[in-house]
Amino acid sequence: MKYSIGIDLGGTDIKAGLLAEDGTLSCRTIISTHVNEGARAIARRIAGVIKQVISVAEKTDPPIVSSQQQIIGIGLGSPGLIIAESGIVHFSPNFPGWYDIPLLDYVNEELQEIDIPLYIDNDVNVMVLGELHHGAGVGFDNIVGLTIGTGVGGGVVIDKKVYHGSWNTAGELGHTIVKPNGRTCGCGNRGCLEAYAGARHIIERTQQQIVAGRKTCMNPDQLTPKKIADAASAGDELAREIFSETGKLIGVALTSIAHILNPQIAVIGGGISAAGEELLFQHIRKEFNKRVMDIPSKMQIVPAKLGNDAGLVGAAMLAYTHKRKV
Ligand SMILES: [Zn+2]
Repeated sequence: MKYSIGIDLGGTDIKAGLLAEDGTLSCRTIISTHVNEGARAIARRIAGVIKQVISVAEKTDPPIVSSQQQIIGIGLGSPGLIIAESGIVHFSPNFPGWYDIPLLDYVNEELQEIDIPLYIDNDVNVMVLGELHHGAGVGFDNIVGLTIGTGVGGGVVIDKKVYHGSWNTAGELGHTIVKPNGRTCGCGNRGCLEAYAGARHIIERTQQQIVAGRKTCMNPDQLTPKKIADAASAGDELAREIFSETGKLIGVALTSIAHILNPQIAVIGGGISAAGEELLFQHIRKEFNKRVMDIPSKMQIVPAKLGNDAGLVGAAMLAYTHKRKV
């Protein structure tokens, strides 16, 4: 059996795990990131969790791996703009002051005694890769993914490989424009999908309606997407409308994406997607089916399957799909 190690680098935690070829995750470990300690310190911590995963895999009784040669690679998923081929974090909003950090080189310098190739990619690209190989996208080659949480991230996988574009910014599906003169997005543009479907924007849209006099059982000062979803499930008209409108706009964005890329499947994850079939997904599909051309309409729209494990699984899959080696 072949194995690879996945690392999910977040602003709060660094998670790691060992992925078997059959998709089984083991030897999970998690430590705090301590973003303010800087890139070198974080590279040391990443190297530390890698060593820990290998040590657990070798020392478990019976051992999961008998030699390091069974581990074909170590993949790292990181937020931000990542230059995968050269192992560089160009910019990452979660890591203050990081600009063109050669993160893989830093980690490699801390792994002198370990000779396993390292790979890196953007965390959402990695999530889509995870879903493709071991989640909702199994059996497909061309897949797009959306993670709808605080922001709306996207990733594109073509022929089972992440598509990076000319300058590594491909897949910004959250900034697909769904209303040309609409709400202002964090990117500075107007009418992006994120400006409607991102958590803060869902809350703001709801608050605006309440201030405008809409009847609701919700308290405008204590809103969260979860509370809005709960109110919607309990039959609150405004809450239901907020989610159906959000679903429609996701459907509008997916229509353009389907026309441009003709993927087989769109996988949707992230906290907002937990609203589920009745509140969200049926509205996405309805709008998509209303607008899409005949042949690309075959694209399936499904919820992500791997949940919080998608980052680890996908990062570990970089070892099978990416070229970069250090
Ligand atoms: Zn935007």
